[in-house]
Amino acid sequence: MKSQLLASPGQRVGMSPGQPPAPAGRKSTKGRFAAQHRRRMFRTDMLTVALWASLAAALALWLADGGMSSVGNLTQAVTAVGILAGLAGMDLVFLMLLLAARLPFVDGAVGHDRALEFHRKLGKPALYLLLAHGLLLATGYGMAEGLNPVSEAVALWTLVPDMWLAFVSMALFIAVVVTSLVAVRRRFPYEFWYFVHLLTYLAVAVALPHQFSVGGLFAEGTWQRWYWLLLYIGSGSALAWFRIAQPVIATYRHQLTVRRVVPLAPGVFSIEMSGLRLNELSGNGGRFFVWRFLAPGMWWQAHPFSLSAEPQVGKSSRQPTLRITVRNLGAGSARLASLKPGTKVAIEGPYGVFSSAARSREHVVMIGAGIGITPLRALLESTPFGPGQATVLLRGSSTEELFLGDEILELCRKRGATLFHLTGPRSANPQSAWLPASAGTSQLRDFVPDITDADVYICGPSAWARQVLAEAKRSGVREEQLHYERFDW
Ligand SMILES: Cc1cc2nc3c(=O)[nH]c(=O)nc-3n(C[C@H](O)[C@H](O)[C@H](O)COP(=O)(O)OP(=O)(O)OC[C@H]3O[C@@H](n4cnc5c(N)ncnc54)[C@H](O)[C@@H]3O)c2cc1C
Repeated sequence: MKSQLLASPGQRVGMSPGQPPAPAGRKSTKGRFAAQHRRRMFRTDMLTVALWASLAAALALWLADGGMSSVGNLTQAVTAVGILAGLAGMDLVFLMLLLAARLPFVDGAVGHDRALEFHRKLGKPALYLLLAHGLLLATGYGMAEGLNPVSEAVALWTLVPDMWLAFVSMALFIAVVVTSLVAVRRRFPYEFWYFVHLLTYLAVAVALPHQFSVGGLFAEGTWQRWYWLLLYIGSGSALAWFRIAQPVIATYRHQLTVRRVVPLAPGVFSIEMSGLRLNELSGNGGRFFVWRFLAPGMWWQAHPFSLSAEPQVGKSSRQPTLRITVRNLGAGSARLASLKPGTKVAIEGPYGVFSSAARSREHVVMIGAGIGITPLRALLESTPFGPGQATVLLRGSSTEELFLGDEILELCRKRGATLFHLTGPRSANPQSAWLPASAGTSQLRDFVPDITDADVYICGPSAWARQVLAEAKRSGVREEQLHYERFDW
């Protein structure tokens, strides 16, 4: 059934006949999601505590092992600060590795995107601390031997066993951080950045020998020995398990195979896959997997795509299936339109908290634009709410751009959600540029009067989503109620 365009706020499409809109201003701070929300906030706090505690521990253990006892003059003080900078820098590197390890605890608390955002933020401080470590030690040792820092660095490189490996490690860290800077990263294909990024593991590995032989970190009987061993072994095992073993197990367990590719609009298509035990993946509407289609020329590219439908596993479906919907935003995604039925698929995931796991309230608002509408469709299908407790706002330049719009309309009817189609050219008003011009002076609150008491899910182009987020905040929605899935990196 074709839905009508919205002429002005207040005109709703897709509601169940006789379905009343949710009353405005109702507060539901208690409810079935309250405990889940408290647990998630607690986990987030625990992560913050663990992060600071690890940094404090790295420094405190050096003190506990008598680090300060060697400081009696300026030369020794410079050397000591250099050692502390190295310990703090290495600790941050391990935290970065753990944030990228896709630990379920981290993913479930803050989501994959926020974990990676924090991972990125630690990059520069970690590098600066490691550079300070090298410079201060070269200065401190040089002062002790009457050499300038450059001559001392050359002497360290040539005379001290394993030290040249520390220099190689530093060069690798610099390469990783520099290629990760946004301006530099955009110049290179994603795969180039990714493979340079893998050098971090090599950088950590080649830094290890000088910590044994020169640093005394692993000296018998010290507390530091156990702390650093735990970090090395713990991070290595977490990475091996969650980044390698789990994806291999999930791929083998679900045996996904492309069933068909369904075109939706120019450059937009759904990929349906069948597989085994897909019931285990139910309830992940809105979350994403990293997909690798094992066909010639495609297998080496891994794409993050969100589910656009909950896995179909009921008795009515002859073969369990799941679905993603893709817009060809680059050469790799465009090639997926030509996938042949029967192509095997490797998966990693599910990841992210763009799902019911992030719910904190009974009311829910879903705002999507372009291809960002498609994960909202899966979320709408699965997330719990009563009639009148959900509002869906879809933005596109035309009705044809409201991908899966007909399915969403049907779901809204079935579940009693309020649906707005926001189509047409952008509003000229900078405050409400995320809305179409036809919305006039309307604001988010005009569409969702009780938005301050709702979880708000937003997915769409980044500039558009930023405007929606800003307006939601202006409307009084708190940070913890806002859930945003980014499709860019
Ligand atoms: C969490 C998440 C969910 C997404 N869900 C959807 C969806 O449901 N539908 C949809 O159409 N698009 C989605 N995207 C965007 C989609 O992943 C990219 O548009 C697509 O991978 C681009 O690949 P490309 O080869 O065509 O483009 P290019 O820009 O040429 O990308 C080249 C390589 O970069 C990789 N790449 C590109 N963007 C990313 C990224 N953000 N993270 C990691 N690797 C990346 C690609 O997989 C590919 O290997 C999502 C992105 C993210 C981060």
